[in-house]
Amino acid sequence: MGAGIIGASLGYHLSRRNGIAVTFLERDIPGAGASGHSFAWANAFGKDPREYHTFNRRSLDMWYRLAHQLNADIGIHYGGEMRWENNPQRALQLRDRIRQIQTWGYPCRLITRDEMLALEPHLHPGTVEAASFSEADIHIETDKFINVCLRRACEAGAVVHPKTGVTGFVIHNGSITAVKTTDAEFPCDVVVLASGVQTTELSSLAQVHIPQQRSPGIVIKTTPCAEVLHNVSIIHAPSTDENHQHLHLRQLTDGSLRIGQGTQEGINRDDSQQHADALLARAKIYLPAIADAKAIPTPAGYRPMPLDGFPVLGFTKAVENLYIALMHSGVTLAPLVGEMATLEIVDDARVDWFASYRPERFR
Ligand SMILES: Cc1cc2nc3c(=O)[nH]c(=O)nc-3n(C[C@H](O)[C@H](O)[C@H](O)COP(=O)(O)OP(=O)(O)OC[C@H]3O[C@@H](n4cnc5c(N)ncnc54)[C@H](O)[C@@H]3O)c2cc1C
Repeated sequence: MGAGIIGASLGYHLSRRNGIAVTFLERDIPGAGASGHSFAWANAFGKDPREYHTFNRRSLDMWYRLAHQLNADIGIHYGGEMRWENNPQRALQLRDRIRQIQTWGYPCRLITRDEMLALEPHLHPGTVEAASFSEADIHIETDKFINVCLRRACEAGAVVHPKTGVTGFVIHNGSITAVKTTDAEFPCDVVVLASGVQTTELSSLAQVHIPQQRSPGIVIKTTPCAEVLHNVSIIHAPSTDENHQHLHLRQLTDGSLRIGQGTQEGINRDDSQQHADALLARAKIYLPAIADAKAIPTPAGYRPMPLDGFPVLGFTKAVENLYIALMHSGVTLAPLVGEMATLEIVDDARVDWFASYRPERFR
């Protein structure tokens, strides 16, 4: 397995079980993959259809229990998500979306401009045609969460091997008996592939077909600045003109910001300083208090993105002890996948919630 947010959560949950020895094999350092490039907004806001929305919602609600259980600084930022629209057509779409997910039981509501400013006094929103607040949404500092999970797992006896790339499997009678790496072979009872975009290549070594789309995205960083978001943890701001996309922004404990644009699935490869500067300049229009922040470009991150956009979870039919855990929205889904996949791996349960997401659908 890899040591991104999914591998870390799953390994932590597995390590809590009696008699389960967990070994993390990570070709780089923990969190170096998509998890380290993520916008890391845990939510079910834009997730469709309803079954997938509910799947994400369940996991979002599980973050609170997992944070309590880990009992350490996992970089979780409560406070909800606020967004607004400055154009009548988009405002209509936002009102419709809020009405729809309210009927699905999502804790969100339309708010007034005055309520926006009461929540975030530093905000200069400009024209507000419609605004909403989704109170349950959070964001996570993925590096902190991953490190805490690995630490807790190691306290329970797990072993982490960084800079150890998996190169193949020893397969006997339809089951993996050892994992080959750049350094050694590791005998095993079960292999969990939580290796993000590399899952397709690794699963093909066991003749298992898990197709993905390429989905690069950019989330820029800034230098630290004074606390600018006092209550909400994420804001989604409208485009400043027709040529631009929406932007989303969150602030970390060290005061630095993470800023992205477009949707959560939007394609972007522009990792130039110019792009980072332009994105930050647009954020400063809405938050003049961050005037001193400097933009730090970051390389594109590649979302693990199954071909149909939905998670791939479960044991494969072709290799009985190979468990796949591949998904976009892994930050939202890490608590649910960690806990429920453990029921499947250790207790031999088949969790209904995963029924639509089995690996065999790609055969
Ligand atoms: C720009 C961007 C924005 C995003 N925004 C959000 C968001 O707001 N909310 C949300 O929920 N999700 C978001 N996501 C998606 C989310 O980040 C991912 O779904 C999640 O990080 C996947 O975690 P993972 O552990 O499966 O994969 P990864 O984090 O990629 O971890 C896989 C690990 O496996 C290791 N590995 C790979 N190959 C091997 C090998 N051969 N041997 C050993 N180790 C190997 C890698 O080095 C890596 O550390 C975003 C992603 C991106 C890129």
